[in-house]
Amino acid sequence: MYKLVIHVYLTFFYINREYYSHIQLNIGNNVNIGKEVLNLLKEEITEVEYNRYIKHLNYDLKKSNANLAIFYAPNALVVNWIKNRYTEKISHLFEIKSNAKVTVQITLKNKVETKKTKQIVEAKQSSSLLNTSHSFSNFMVGGSNQFAYAAVKSVSENAGNVYNPLFIYGGVGLGKTHLMQAAGNVFQDEGKVVIYTSVEQFLNDFTRSIRNNTMERFREKYRKCDVLLIDDIQFLSNKEGIQEELFHTFEALKGDGKQIMFTADKHPKKIAGLEARLQSRFEWGLVADIQPPELETKIAIIEKKCEINRVSLSKDIINYIATVIESNVREIEGILSKLHAYSQLMHIDLNLEFTKNVLKDQMNENRENLTIENITQTVAKDLNIKPSEIKSKGRSKNIVYARRISVYICRELTQNTMPQLAKYFGMKDHTAISHTIKKINELIKDDEDFKLKIDELTNKITSAS
Ligand code: ADP
Ligand code: MG
Repeated sequence: MYKLVIHVYLTFFYINREYYSHIQLNIGNNVNIGKEVLNLLKEEITEVEYNRYIKHLNYDLKKSNANLAIFYAPNALVVNWIKNRYTEKISHLFEIKSNAKVTVQITLKNKVETKKTKQIVEAKQSSSLLNTSHSFSNFMVGGSNQFAYAAVKSVSENAGNVYNPLFIYGGVGLGKTHLMQAAGNVFQDEGKVVIYTSVEQFLNDFTRSIRNNTMERFREKYRKCDVLLIDDIQFLSNKEGIQEELFHTFEALKGDGKQIMFTADKHPKKIAGLEARLQSRFEWGLVADIQPPELETKIAIIEKKCEINRVSLSKDIINYIATVIESNVREIEGILSKLHAYSQLMHIDLNLEFTKNVLKDQMNENRENLTIENITQTVAKDLNIKPSEIKSKGRSKNIVYARRISVYICRELTQNTMPQLAKYFGMKDHTAISHTIKKINELIKDDEDFKLKIDELTNKITSAS
């Protein structure tokens, strides 16, 4: 039954795509920068992610301009999903393509843009890329995240004076970005100049400034703001130039009593390849962790997301989803989006049986779509080496380490046989693979940090699909 649903679902998107592309054709032969940007994005994300969400976006050539990019998505939950996960990335890719700061708006096709929303968008163009839907009021607090919540909240009420810097760390999808942006939104509403950036974007900005000889402007921007929020600090690992720049930015801001906040997927001490002076500064203020949510918090989060997205689900369905989802809150949004789309298209009431099928289908699909390539890519990115090096005959310590981890995770998460893995990773035969797996299992047993690393990577890989 649900196979049929999927078919209808996809057909719906297909028809939409045809419809929109027809509109675009009528506009003329302008270069469709929106499409080009989505093509760039395609290279950075998994095929499944692309096909499931990004592919269905349509760029409005007519209404978009040099500072505003408008994309249409087929339903409200897909709008939200893309808004939360990709807006920043898309905006950044626009910046790369056009060299201008672009505000990205993801919206429903028939939502007419009023004069007021246009003014708001224009006002925000000069500021940072904060997602305004990330607020304290829609962040559900429970034992797992109350420490981080309290820390961020108190910083938002007293910038520069309580914990400076504030460093929040925790696994994927546990609400770090949400909290950081909630504080950012408070500051922004108070009229402060807030910069919210990922490490990647900070690095790109830095490199571009060196290339274009505009370091002066770069420093003016980052050292003169009121609040600097940098997300996913772990990506600084082994990038020396940008670490040095961040160090001086930090010194300048801290000296002026300006608030700084960081997030990362692990404690600063555990981030490899960081300059000691930077590492120690990360711990100067307060370091707070976020743990995976308990069942009650998950239920509260699902209820909140349902309310925000105007989806109504019965108590037993909510409880079921909360039990099935292990920790990554982001997955909840994917599931709600899917349930909502199915129920709307099929005009059926959601019951528990149907929900179970949809979820089972999603889990299987996630697993089926995992390939050796995308696992290797994620491992390589995380460990700062090239995917091709993992497949090479390289014997350096880093490469061997990454290769072993990739072999192990591929064996855990895909259906590939040992000979198939041996062939892919350029190893002698299946005994080399089984030897590697044995070694990794021993390490997992003996070394808690190593186990955490494997869990973190597995989480990243499965949540990206
Ligand atoms: P992280 O940055 O830690 O990977 P995000 O902040 O991007 O995670 O959170 C992923 C999604 O889950 C976001 O849509 C966020 O709104 C939601 N989320 C996470 N934790 C909570 C929470 N406690 N209450 C409400 N929403 C949450
Ligand atoms: Mg984040």
